[in-house]
Amino acid sequence: MVRWLLLLAIALVIALLARKVLVALRTPATGERDAATPPDNPQAKLVRCVECGAFVPKADTVPVANGLRCGAGCLPR
Ligand SMILES: [Zn+2]
Repeated sequence: MVRWLLLLAIALVIALLARKVLVALRTPATGERDAATPPDNPQAKLVRCVECGAFVPKADTVPVANGLRCGAGCLPR
């Protein structure tokens, strides 16, 4: 009798672990994000220009030694 209970307990643990693994495999790496939240595009993120202080999309910036600059107008000459 005790042996059957032990086997049942082991089977339950295995089933729970298998379920966890299956859920983890089905969920993509970014799946924890709330579905209502739009995925943030890193290129659309606004960053501050170290020269003029303007906020510009990160895709439009140019990296310099001390940060990011907003473009040709703020680049060092
Ligand atoms: Zn600038």
